[in-house]
Formats: sequence, C-alpha cells, structure tokens
Amino acid sequence: MKEISCKLLVIGAGPGGYVCAIRAGQLGVDTVIVEAKKPGGTCLTIGCIPSKALIHAADEFDKVVHMASGKLPLGISLGEPTIDLKKTVAWKDRIVGRLTNGVAGLLKKAGVKQVHGWAKFRDGKTVEVETETGQQMIRAETIVIATGSVAVELPLLRFGGPVISSTEALALKEVPKQLAVVGGGYIGLELGIAFAKMGAKVSVVEALPRILPLYDAELTKPVAKRLSELGVDVFTGAKAQRLEPKADVLLFTAADGKKVRLQADKVLVTVGRNPLTEGWGIEELALDMAGKFVRIDDQCQTSMRGIYAIGDVTGEPMLAHRAMAQGEMVAEIVAGHKRSWDKRGIPAVCFTDPEVVTVGLSPDESRKTGAEIKIGQFPFSANGRAMTMLAEDGFVRVVARADNHLVLGIQGVGRGISELSTAFGMAIEMGARLEDIAGSIHAHPTQGEGFQEAALKALGYALHV
Ligand code: FAD
Ligand code: NAD
Repeated sequence: MKEISCKLLVIGAGPGGYVCAIRAGQLGVDTVIVEAKKPGGTCLTIGCIPSKALIHAADEFDKVVHMASGKLPLGISLGEPTIDLKKTVAWKDRIVGRLTNGVAGLLKKAGVKQVHGWAKFRDGKTVEVETETGQQMIRAETIVIATGSVAVELPLLRFGGPVISSTEALALKEVPKQLAVVGGGYIGLELGIAFAKMGAKVSVVEALPRILPLYDAELTKPVAKRLSELGVDVFTGAKAQRLEPKADVLLFTAADGKKVRLQADKVLVTVGRNPLTEGWGIEELALDMAGKFVRIDDQCQTSMRGIYAIGDVTGEPMLAHRAMAQGEMVAEIVAGHKRSWDKRGIPAVCFTDPEVVTVGLSPDESRKTGAEIKIGQFPFSANGRAMTMLAEDGFVRVVARADNHLVLGIQGVGRGISELSTAFGMAIEMGARLEDIAGSIHAHPTQGEGFQEAALKALGYALHV
C-alpha cells in the first residue's frame, strides 16, 4: 500500500473542505485533500450553482413568455418562445465544469495535494483511500472532516424511476408535464417555481401548516402569492404516502384527512438533507455527536484531539457560506493563528420568486431575548427602482433594540433582493445602529434605498411612506 504523510488532511472537497485546504496551502501548511467525486462538492456540482443556473434560465423564459403574451406594459412584443431543456442543462453543466476545474486549479496553485477516492479512517491519525490505482494510506497530524450531507429519502418514496431528488431534477432532459414536489422548503420551492416557469404543472405537498416554515409567515406571503399566480397548487398540512403502482399518481393525505390522488410524471422529494456520517469510519473514532451531526466547539474541534469537522456534517444552517467560513477559520487555527467562531450572523437566502433574505434575529426571536424592540418595515411598492422593474411585491424589515438602537436582525423579500444580503450581513457583523444605516447615503434609484427607509421608519421618520 502506498503511504504519504502530511500536516493536514481534509476529507471532502466541498465549499468547506476546499476552502480549508486552499487557505492552509496559502499559509504554508503541508496539506492533502481527498475527494471521492469532483472538487466543489454538493454546492458546485449538484446544489447551489446548478440550481441557480436553472432558476436563471427559468426566469428568463418566464419573462419572454410574459412578453409574448402581450400582458407586460413595456411595449415589447415577440413570437411564442420555447425552451430546450437539454440545451439549458448542457449550459449549466459547462458552468459546473468551469467551476470544478477552477477549484482544482486553485488547490494546485496553493500547493495542496489532491487525492481522488473514498477516504476511511483507520484510526485518529490514519486514513485509507480507495483510489483508482489501489489503496493509499495517508498519515496526518490534523484531520478535517468535511463530508457534507445527502438528501433525505422517504421510506415509501425511495429515489428511483419517477421519484427523484434535486440531483436528478437538475439533470432532466425535458420539462415534466406534471411535477409533484414533496416538501415545500428551500429546494422544493426554488426548483418547483423554476419548473412551473418552464411550463410544468407543479403541485407542492408540504407536511407543516405553511410553506418555508423556516421563515416567519409575513416574509413568505409574497412567495405564496407568486406560487398562486404561477398556477402552482400548494397543499399544506399534507402527508405524502406513496406512488400508486403502475400509475403516475402520488397519493397523499390532505390537511382535512382526505386521501388525494395527484397525477404526476415526476415526484421530486425535497424533505431535507442529512449529514453524511456513515461510510467513512466514524465508528473508529467514537466522536461525540450533537443529534445526527458531529459535535464541534467554537473552533470546530470535535471531541477527539487533532480532528476538526466543518460544514453540513456539523449542523444547521447547512449553507455553503457557513461551511466556507468554518473552513477558512480551521485552516488558520491549524497554521497557529488564534481564531474562534465569533460571527454575529449567517445570512440565509432563498432563491424563490420573490427571493427571501434574513440575517440575525427575526422579530419573535428578538423579543425572546427580553429586550424591548423597534421594527421598521418599508414596502417595495413605495420604491422607485422596484416600480421600474415591475417588482413591487415585498419589503425590507429592520429589527433593533429600543434602548440603544443596535440592529438585531434584518429581513427582506423581493425580486433580486439576494444581492442586498451583503449589505444586511455587513450591518449585523459590524454592529450597526439604526442611525448608521439611516445615515449612510444609499444610491438612487436602487432597491437598497428600501433598507435605509426601513431604518428611518424604525427611527420614526421614514421619508417615502
Ligand atoms: P458538500 O458540499 O456536501 O461536500 C462534501 C464532499 O465530500 C462531497 O464532494 C463528497 O463527495 C465528499 N466526501 C464525502 N465523504 C467522503 C469520503 N469518505 N471520502 C472522500 N470524499 C468524501 N447552500 C447555499 O448556501 N446556497 C444555496 O443556494 C444552496 N443551494 C442548494 C441547492 C441544492 C439543490 C442543494 C442540494 C444544496 C444547496 N445548498 C445551498 C447547500 C450547500 O450545497 C451545502 O450547504 C454545502 O455544499 C455544504 O458544503 P460541505 O463542504 O459541508 O459539503
Ligand atoms: P428544507 O428543510 O428546506 O425543507 C424541507 C421541507 O420538507 C420542510 O418544509 C418540511 O416541513 C417538509 N417535509 C418534511 N417531511 C415531509 C413529508 N414527509 N412530507 C411533506 N413535507 C415534508 O430541506 P430541503 O429543501 O431539502 O433543503 C435541504 C437543505 O439544503 C436546506 O435546509 C438548506 O440548508 C440547503 N439549501 C439551501 C438553499 C439556499 O441557501 N438557497 C437552497 C437549497 C438547499
């Protein structure tokens, strides 16, 4: 068996692992990264990037369909548009290819050795990798587990045939005629809306009483309205049962207890993701767990000395930018820097139509801190830029302490609002007060002015409502 030794071994080259390895390499740490599939992980190959490519294509198609219908007041007319999903998916695959090659190049540039294969712990310092050319043993002083997550499977709706996960949904060759989506969370609604825009008849079956239960109800109302405009049927409080044998029918129990048969040529199951904690020898390490996740401290150290864990395998929120921030921090700790997790907020963006953004605490969470709070909310219907983009649905909301005006949370919903997550995140991270946001000049005309106006509203003198 071939053997190599290194200071740092990273298992998994998703956003957590590859960022950790690049930063460690930049800092002169002798680093090896093992990846069984492609560099970039879930995010670049079957997650964030391919889904956003498909969502963008669907948005563009929806726009031209709307123009062709003559319903838009812009004075533009054109013939009936069509979409060739095979070509769309090929374009998406080229983007994925560019990014995965880019990550491999960045790892190389940082001096990181890349090993392709499945890694399994032999003990706390040794890992065996099943490579194409045989077994490879890697000994390391420090090991980072960045194995990510996998889609949850429902026992009576196992993946296969017409029952698909997001991975297959992102590689379809044609738009399904009738798409049933089980789970109205992030993936179900992002992709459900995209397929509805591409012409599928979409139905969403969600177990809880409302869609996107992670966000407060007011934030999700504009999304529910858009779903209805797009002709998406949403069944909340509903439990998916099984597919009827030999028929394209999904059986589910509606909120009133009635059994419903839903015609569907594809059933997209998006009921969450589980951390990948099997198959890589977790049993050799006897790590402490936090529920289904690997337990970590504020430096991402596990219960075993010299072993760190980052990204989806360590808990919620299972988001790429959290994994990357943890990866960068751990690389610096391994290189001898003094670091610990001190982030004030992790932005969350749902790329539905309209998009939803949150950073920090919601109004309810803020109240639970015991502090008296002030809330300022500004509607996009009073924002000039939003009017010119036909994007008046939605608002920005700022939540602050009443005593010292420290901003505790910022939320928003609106078309294209994902780009405001940077401003929201910076405000929270830098400990902004309402006066800091209200006192910064926001360029006109932009949706960002809604952010300033929401802060002004909380201070009691919004200018444009
Ligand atoms: P992963 O990206 O899952 O990477 C783990 C890697 O480890 C994989 O490549 C895997 O092959 C490898 N691996 C695992 N075990 C081994 C082993 N034993 N040996 C070798 N290699 C191994 N997040 C966002 O922030 N924004 C979004 O818009 C977004 N959209 C998403 C859309 C979809 C459809 C999905 C599924 C997810 C989306 N996410 C999004 C979530 C995001 O993809 C994850 O949070 C992120 O990829 C987690 O990064 P990670 O490094 O922890 O793990
Ligand atoms: P999710 O947790 O966002 O949503 C799952 C939904 O399924 C929930 O609303 C839940 O109530 C519902 N559900 C659970 N069991 C059900 C059942 N048996 N029948 C019907 N509904 C059921 O999970 P997801 O959409 O699979 O996404 C997984 C994770 O990936 C997310 O939590 C997020 O961390 C990440 N992600 C992020 C983004 C983004 O940042 N824009 C996009 C996609 C995915």
